[in-house]
Amino acid sequence: MDLDAKVDQHESRGDETARTNGLWAATLDAASEGMLVTDHRGNIILVNRAYTEITGYRADEVIGMNPRVLRSGRHDEAFYDAMWSALRRDGRWQGEIWNKRKDGETYPSWLSISSIKDANGRITNFLGIFADISVIKQAQQQLAYLAHHDPLTGLPNRLMLMERLEHAIELARRAKSQFALMFIDLDDFKKINDSLGHDAGDALLRAVAGRMRDAVRAADTVARLGGDEFVVLLENIKGESEAVCVAEKMLESVKHAADLQGLCTSASIGIAIFPGDGTDIATLMRNADSAMYRSKQAGRNRATTYDASFNASACRRIELEGSLRQALELDQFTLVYQPQYELSSGRITGVETLLRWQHPELGDIEPAQFIPAAEETGDLTGIGRWVLKTACREAESWRNRGLFDGCLSVNVSIRQLECNEFVRTVEEALAHSGLPAQCLQLEITESVLLRTTGHLTGVLSALSALGVTLAVDDFGSGYSSLYHLKNLPVSTLKIDAAFVQNLPASENDKAIVRAIVALGENLDLSIVAEGIENEEQRSLLIREGCQFGQGFHLYHPVTRDQLLVALAS
Ligand code: C2E
Ligand code: MG
Ligand code: MG
Repeated sequence: MDLDAKVDQHESRGDETARTNGLWAATLDAASEGMLVTDHRGNIILVNRAYTEITGYRADEVIGMNPRVLRSGRHDEAFYDAMWSALRRDGRWQGEIWNKRKDGETYPSWLSISSIKDANGRITNFLGIFADISVIKQAQQQLAYLAHHDPLTGLPNRLMLMERLEHAIELARRAKSQFALMFIDLDDFKKINDSLGHDAGDALLRAVAGRMRDAVRAADTVARLGGDEFVVLLENIKGESEAVCVAEKMLESVKHAADLQGLCTSASIGIAIFPGDGTDIATLMRNADSAMYRSKQAGRNRATTYDASFNASACRRIELEGSLRQALELDQFTLVYQPQYELSSGRITGVETLLRWQHPELGDIEPAQFIPAAEETGDLTGIGRWVLKTACREAESWRNRGLFDGCLSVNVSIRQLECNEFVRTVEEALAHSGLPAQCLQLEITESVLLRTTGHLTGVLSALSALGVTLAVDDFGSGYSSLYHLKNLPVSTLKIDAAFVQNLPASENDKAIVRAIVALGENLDLSIVAEGIENEEQRSLLIREGCQFGQGFHLYHPVTRDQLLVALAS
């Protein structure tokens, strides 16, 4: 633009343009992202202040140079070729790239490059904008380690065990092989802890952990679930007898470890085999646990394999599946609502919808007990549609009465998202109720993030295009990838209640909360802590920088009428 000519012709507009230009320069320098502009050949003509802060290079050192000076050497030519061809084809490229600072340190950054064209469509410049994401990366690594290991013994914890189990099931299904899941509980551990003190108890647990680890193959998993409960996963076994053999070794390991500490203790072990004793994690865990109880009942210091005839809960499951089918028609579902609030003030900022099944004979059944069954039978699609419709209609009525201006959260399972008409279901629920899309938040579990194949990504984008926001529920309990978090339209992370439960005592959980808060700040996500049950937990979370929360401390899940009272007060 010919700025001078304009100034002559329209002095006042010229002043304004000059002011705008000044404002632009100030804006560029105030930005926290590094920015650079190059000419069409790719030589740098302009950088902002954040560029210098991140790279260490002053403007006068890089102007006229090619951004190649920043290359870390971590990417091959093919990487840069792909970047340039995307730029030529689409006019833009974005992605994660490792660069090098002036002092030689390499760092990860998130870079977007766009080409700028003149009126004739010729490229005149390139604009690059990047953020230093090393803090996010570190937080994520720290989080991944802390979240998946037991600090006392260094063994994998429950979360990592779940991950390995999922993997083992997949492998065994494909290879048509078997694996064993073993529950190990020390006998009389509580007595040792109480009489000799926690230090002695901890030392015993560490010794037992080491011995058990040494007694299995490197590919097997020994995990500690907490307290004196250990779980062993033996992959690719030939049969039950092999598992029993390893269990005998485990019994020896425990005795030895105790001997060395001058203690006398033993263990009780329960074994379940895939696929004979269960084909999903929950069933295998339950069955190994019930076999372990039978070891205790039979006098301890022994291993027992699972026997289906002792299990009554399988019958209950079949019974549930039968009556689930009619539950919707018979109007047996209800919703309860749990407020989410700003931790510092207690102000209600949202309400989560939780499903209840009032069974005429069995009484109130919690979602954890029937949602997996409903997923399997396919009934969850219809139930989920009812939940969305009912909850949206409710929330809009609270808004109309001037009682509520927050966000309604509704849980959705991966099976619902996978269903073709899900986006339409959401659209209809919004249209029928009149609830604005931005007042609806859908809670998805972390596992959805791992399975974002084309279809699911499309569904999430379509939902976000409607204006609906997404929260990751039970965050921290699985392996979330930063890549997916950055690329999916997620606005909120809900810290799994398991990490809140042992606050403020657990240093480990405190570190996890801190890392999640840091992750949230860096990715600009709201953080909601779940399962807050007391004031100590609330104030600790505030100190750690967490902004929102949910839990029995301030609000239990309540009926609609009780919620109206809470909203009005
Ligand atoms: P969630 O979404 O993580 O919900 C939080 C669960 O923690 C709820 O259990 C709630 O009652 C409970 N809770 C809340 N505050 C506290 C606390 O301070 N301490 C403790 N110990 N627990 C607390 P609920 O209602 O049994 O729901 C369990 C799960 O079932 C939910 O976990 C959610 O994943 C699923 N669910 C619930 N309703 C629906 C639904 O309509 N559709 C789908 N697909 N899933 C649902
Ligand atoms: Mg939830
Ligand atoms: Mg949750």
